[in-house]
Amino acid sequence: MKAPVKIISTIAEMKAACREVTRVGKTLGFVPTMGALHEGHLSLVRAAKSRCDVVAASIFVNPLQFGPTEDLAKYPRTLEHDTKLLDELGVDLLFAPSADEMYPKGAKTYVEVTGLSDKLDGAARPGHFRGVATVVAKLLEIVRPDCAFFGQKDAAQVAVLRKMVSDLDLDVEMVVCPIVRETDGLAMSSRNAYLNTEQRQQALVLYRSLMRVQSVADQGEGDAARLIEIGKQVIAEEPSARLDYFAVVDPDTLDPVADISRGALVAVAAYLGSTRLIDNILRIPPGR
Ligand code: AMP
Repeated sequence: MKAPVKIISTIAEMKAACREVTRVGKTLGFVPTMGALHEGHLSLVRAAKSRCDVVAASIFVNPLQFGPTEDLAKYPRTLEHDTKLLDELGVDLLFAPSADEMYPKGAKTYVEVTGLSDKLDGAARPGHFRGVATVVAKLLEIVRPDCAFFGQKDAAQVAVLRKMVSDLDLDVEMVVCPIVRETDGLAMSSRNAYLNTEQRQQALVLYRSLMRVQSVADQGEGDAARLIEIGKQVIAEEPSARLDYFAVVDPDTLDPVADISRGALVAVAAYLGSTRLIDNILRIPPGR
């Protein structure tokens, strides 16, 4: 029988456990999360299990990626339940450090992917992607995995982290897994727990807007401005939703594209009450 998941809270112990995996010649997969796990997270764990001999996950609600008026204090924390889920899926190592362990007093170093970190979610959330890049850089150095698993749900985060890994020559394969949705289409998110019954229903407008754009694009409309207009119209049909952005961009640079003929990321962010939700679809160019 497999050993239960080993919970580790110090960097030194996590490094030692991960180095031992590599020393004995096994491959190591890594799934970083902020906890409050749902099927989206678990799909990353399953992907890691299928590709790597040993799987490590982390649960760390990273204070650095929350703005001063954001939901750090109320972010859902369900460590006991999360641990059980990870154990059931056969995760070997769970890194769950404290904020002091990750950012001891006097820490002064940040990782910033300039030019990307202020786009899409970075525009509404100044400093967010600097916090994400900094914590993921630290986690990748602590774990030194062969493969790290991320969700397409956070498409701008994927662009920022891919660029960071490339620019810093980090020796890790980034594996990006598809968005996992509820049966009615809502993208799974730990923040869905903030929605009341009405808002949960209203939140479907994000997916609806993407599906409308998808079907118009499938019928041959390639003009990004027109697709954005159509997406925004759908969002406007739900008066409770406050649009942050509806964008058609290059998935790597996050720069706007004029048309989607060479593929594009269609991304939306909107508030339901004070809850900010995001969703996207990736249009792959023909022949790729
Ligand atoms: P978080 O705990 O929100 O930081 O997310 C941890 C990882 O899970 C990130 O790589 C997310 O992109 C990924 N993730 C979150 N929600 C989903 C989802 N619905 N489908 C796929 N991946 C997801």
